[in-house]
Amino acid sequence: MTQLDELLLRELGPGIVSMDPDLLRDCSHDESEQEAVTPDVAVTPVDPLQVEILLRLAGEHRFFVTPRGAGTGKSGGSVPVCGGVSLSLHRMNHILEIDPENLLAVVEPGATCESLQQAAWAAGLFYPPDPASLATCSLGGNVAENAGGPRAFRYGVTREYVLGMEAVRIGGHRFDVGHRPVKGVSGYDLAALLTGSEGTLAVFTKLIFKLIPQPEAPGLLILYFPSVHEAVRAVTILVQNRLFPMALELLDRPSLDAARTETFSPSSSAGGALFCELEGLAASPHLAQAVLDALAGAGAAPSGYELTTDPDAAGAAWDARRDVSSRLKALHARKISEDVAVPRALLPELVLGVREIASELGLDSACYGHAGDGNLHVNFLTDSDGSAFGTAVERLFRLTLLLGGTLSGEHGIGTLKRRFLPAEHAPAVLDMFAAVKHAWDPAGLLNPEKVL
Ligand SMILES: Cc1cc2nc3c(=O)[nH]c(=O)nc-3n(C[C@H](O)[C@H](O)[C@H](O)COP(=O)(O)OP(=O)(O)OC[C@H]3O[C@@H](n4cnc5c(N)ncnc54)[C@H](O)[C@@H]3O)c2cc1C
Repeated sequence: MTQLDELLLRELGPGIVSMDPDLLRDCSHDESEQEAVTPDVAVTPVDPLQVEILLRLAGEHRFFVTPRGAGTGKSGGSVPVCGGVSLSLHRMNHILEIDPENLLAVVEPGATCESLQQAAWAAGLFYPPDPASLATCSLGGNVAENAGGPRAFRYGVTREYVLGMEAVRIGGHRFDVGHRPVKGVSGYDLAALLTGSEGTLAVFTKLIFKLIPQPEAPGLLILYFPSVHEAVRAVTILVQNRLFPMALELLDRPSLDAARTETFSPSSSAGGALFCELEGLAASPHLAQAVLDALAGAGAAPSGYELTTDPDAAGAAWDARRDVSSRLKALHARKISEDVAVPRALLPELVLGVREIASELGLDSACYGHAGDGNLHVNFLTDSDGSAFGTAVERLFRLTLLLGGTLSGEHGIGTLKRRFLPAEHAPAVLDMFAAVKHAWDPAGLLNPEKVL
């Protein structure tokens, strides 16, 4: 037993501190290509006080702490790359309060996104953020990554729903930031700063979210186009026609092939498809006509479409969409996935560029995701070795920045995109990032080697 193990066992107790090899292995990786690193010890608190004690000890004894939600991250954020403690919040998973009068929820950080959606819905309310990992990912991880999802197109990303939080800094100081009213301009907006901070500034122990009224029951209109290029061009046409569906998701041909299941059979001839989720469509199927008319009016009519008002059939299609990433992985020996975002009108240039990069490097590619937000999951795939992946990703990032885009729409920088950050941000901006980190965590003990 190491000195660190002894110290933590003495201060926090064996129910909270674990050296169990299975748990340490679970905490060693996330869902990205980041190589696994096993932590020295795992701490699984059930109470904010235990987080406070751990971070006080970390400050005093100078050991590293890496916060962890459910480990579904796609950028290496919860991998304890410097060893030390993996602080896994999965046991702090209660929905503490749903307030139907003030339209808010208070939750512990380890609760899943889906559990909040369900609790809100049961109270007649709606929590829109819907990362495809919603059944397993934690709300703490969602806030740390400022997670998006298909419905971000209409409703915005996690940030739009964070009213405030309780958090703990290295040194063990616990504090509240933000507010319960939907408005508040009192001092610097530290809740906004912590949202998207990838676990590098503080650890969330409680979160306050805004809820909204439930929408009318949606339905799904799947629009098929001869080419992926035409599918992404349709996104801008819909927006120009002031049509803002609840979700507007792209699947290119390889993604449609991967999405095929026993309960979801997409067109086998289309070059690309848009999943267009429309509020009220379940009761009023004629609402689909406005979308079809707008596209026809711009000379961009789809080559076919499917209208799904049955919730089970729509659910099967959405499940298939959510599984594209894992099915692409199963279909190829190697896969690398990025999540760049560009101004949405430039999506056609992005998808053409991806094809060019892949074909010049002898790779396959698949693009799918949140086309309404200009945010695509670009996958390079191969059945041989992945030695061309590095060049492909560098060229993809260069193209993205040339188009005025950003390296990550929703998965964050973590470990995997750190070295590319200077390509997007000026040295003076990187200095400001470093100054923020230094102000919160001067010794660099919280989630080291991430983002910066
Ligand atoms: C199949 C699949 C589909 C996905 N789809 C989407 C999608 O549609 N949209 C999207 O945005 N993402 C998506 N993701 C990525 C991932 O699910 C999100 O980034 C999610 O927010 C991570 O949550 P987590 O609980 O798994 O966090 P983890 O992976 O455990 O951690 C992520 C980061 O959050 C930090 N963190 C975790 N908890 C806390 C806390 N309490 N306090 C402070 N920091 C903390 C960690 O240190 C780490 O930096 C997908 C992933 C998979 C595997």
